[in-house]
Amino acid sequence: MKLQYLGTAAAEGWPALFCRCESCRAARKLGGRHLRTRSQSIIDDRLLIDFPPDTYMHMLTHFVNLPDIKHCLITHCHSDHLYTGDLSMRSGAFARELEGEDISFYGNDTFVKTMDDFAAAKARQLNIKWHELTEYVTVHIGGYSVTPILARHNPAEKCLNYIISDGQKTLLYLHDTGFPKDETWDFLKNFRFDLVSCDCTVLVKQMDGGGHMSFADNIRVRERMIREGMASENTVFVANHFSHNGAFAPDGKVWLYEETDAMMRKKGFIMSYDGMTVTV
Ligand SMILES: [Zn+2]
Ligand SMILES: [Zn+2]
Ligand SMILES: [Zn+2]
Repeated sequence: MKLQYLGTAAAEGWPALFCRCESCRAARKLGGRHLRTRSQSIIDDRLLIDFPPDTYMHMLTHFVNLPDIKHCLITHCHSDHLYTGDLSMRSGAFARELEGEDISFYGNDTFVKTMDDFAAAKARQLNIKWHELTEYVTVHIGGYSVTPILARHNPAEKCLNYIISDGQKTLLYLHDTGFPKDETWDFLKNFRFDLVSCDCTVLVKQMDGGGHMSFADNIRVRERMIREGMASENTVFVANHFSHNGAFAPDGKVWLYEETDAMMRKKGFIMSYDGMTVTV
């Protein structure tokens, strides 16, 4: 099973669109792995996770074959995970030789309402289907078993994280979420994961609770999973979904890619970057 990270930033990107902070200035100057676009991943080049405004850029930079993608999981409706504006481009006026070929999107009830309203406003054939998922109910999508679990994120919406299995390997996709609730942990105990991708939005900042995790929280996730048999020392753990704000440590130090990745590897994690591929 191959997971490719197409975009690895929080909603504002890193560097953030309009930001002058030290971590954004450094990212602009250094380029390369310091440049992070909005959140999106793809499994085995065919199962897309989330549809941010940078999807078009991901098609260009990482050669995503968008016309041939048939399935896309949506975690929640924040703009860095769902940008409906570009779905208009599936209409016949913009996408030719696509008639009758649907892409199916899957998400929560808020997502379905969003899509219903979007399609009603467009009132034209978009070659899109959308389906509501129920938390903790496994469905079969494009050759994968997909089980949505409840995230701890935006209280206004039933945000989803995903367990995805190809029958051989199992992946846990924890974006976006704070440290999981007890009911989530109880459910996760039914699985043994080969790859775990953790929300690390606030990175080295300290955070108590809330809808995102710091790297200290990621370490707690890994330790608990190994201790309780959900993961082993062979499980690949990735920290992903970063905000420029998270780079500022309480002592004022600014953490950038190479140094942060080296620090994370000592704790059993890899720091994601745009385009990174992990195969398990
Ligand atoms: Zn996000
Ligand atoms: Zn900034
Ligand atoms: Zn979010």
